[in-house]
Amino acid sequence: HSDLDFIRQQIRTVPDWPSAGVQFRDITPLLSSPKAFRVLIDQFVHRYFDARPTAIAGLDARGFIIGSVLAYELNIGFVPIRKKGKLPFTTVQESYELEYGSATVEIHTDAVGPQDRVVLIDDLIATGGTMLAGLRLLQRLGAEVIEGAAIVDLPELGGSDRIRAAGLPLHTLVSFE
Ligand code: IMP
Repeated sequence: HSDLDFIRQQIRTVPDWPSAGVQFRDITPLLSSPKAFRVLIDQFVHRYFDARPTAIAGLDARGFIIGSVLAYELNIGFVPIRKKGKLPFTTVQESYELEYGSATVEIHTDAVGPQDRVVLIDDLIATGGTMLAGLRLLQRLGAEVIEGAAIVDLPELGGSDRIRAAGLPLHTLVSFE
């Protein structure tokens, strides 16, 4: 698939960032190239046009960039799931384990409800912890989450398997071993 090959080629690998031994997959070249950004967003627009979600939920922070443009194209609303401490109104929170310590994400309580069919989007799936925490938040508010979506999967870290095992279909465009 040449569009997916093109997208894959635009992802930059930065060795030893943010720490030694990590190969960071950097999507910023996909965003700064007008052609690549359009090809990228069109992948998700075509995927979800017929599914008729009622909202796109994006994970802080790169999920905001692709999720907001996708929501605009689908003519539906965008909902941010933020790292703890950024949202001003009442929230629900979910915490999850990191390699060292834990992280907490939250969502406004009126962001979605039982009437919603939501696509949950981020740039990359590693251990899956971030997307699973986002899934729990949306489910606690009564929304149906129809699919998780990301540009990149790192399957060796097991996140995509964990997400699908939790019952959330997952759509990713490219993977890196
Ligand atoms: P997970 O929760 O372990 O699946 O980690 C995924 C989250 O960490 C996403 O929000 C990503 O943006 C971020 N992340 C982890 N590794 C990378 C990477 O190599 N490139 C870009 N983002 C990453």
